[in-house]
Amino acid sequence: MSERDHLIVLVVEDDFSIRRLLQERLGRADILVHAVGCLADARQALSTHRIDLLVLDLGLPDGDGADFVRELRRWSALPILILSARHLEQDKIAALDAGADDYVVKPFPVGELLARIRALTRRVRLEREPPILRFGGCQLDFAARQLTREGGQVRLTPTEFEVLCLLATRAGQVVTYRQLLADVWGADALGQHHYVRIVVGHLRRKLEADPLRPRHLLTETGVGYRFHT
Ligand code: CA
Repeated sequence: MSERDHLIVLVVEDDFSIRRLLQERLGRADILVHAVGCLADARQALSTHRIDLLVLDLGLPDGDGADFVRELRRWSALPILILSARHLEQDKIAALDAGADDYVVKPFPVGELLARIRALTRRVRLEREPPILRFGGCQLDFAARQLTREGGQVRLTPTEFEVLCLLATRAGQVVTYRQLLADVWGADALGQHHYVRIVVGHLRRKLEADPLRPRHLLTETGVGYRFHT
């Protein structure tokens, strides 16, 4: 069987014995597994492989799984199953509110985990493209959090990246100041439209051929912005 006939699962888990157990048991169920131990490797795997589902631990050496779910949900609808030793209701609610689809507490029966994986992936499209958006001479790689222009890497601050991501994932639609402020800066920043204007100004200088006559980051006067590919 080729890669395209298989379900492909990315396991992000820093406990080696669990990683090995999942590789073995999922493999026996004809699931291809990419297993990594940290979030940096997970970003790398997501930008280079087709992945149909993510099994994600919460306590990881380079960050918290729930924050990673929020990051992913800016651009991806990938099914996410949390696998964690944290068993409190508040931990589960926090992860699900962040955008996870399901939650399994360790230690776990592997059969149940497999059943949940199958349930979550029934709607998976098997020919998903790598998450890269091309516009003008630019390539935006959502998973690697990188923008290149004419082949050269463009340095973006985390805030610039988040604003660009939010606009680019809704290409063609108007995104309001309120949506941008709430999503990127948080509820306390509502009304601070100049935060957004400054960041969009910086982004235009970095990715527009003529920042004064933008072709990609368009102003919707008084409302917000619209991204055109
Ligand atoms: Ca862990």
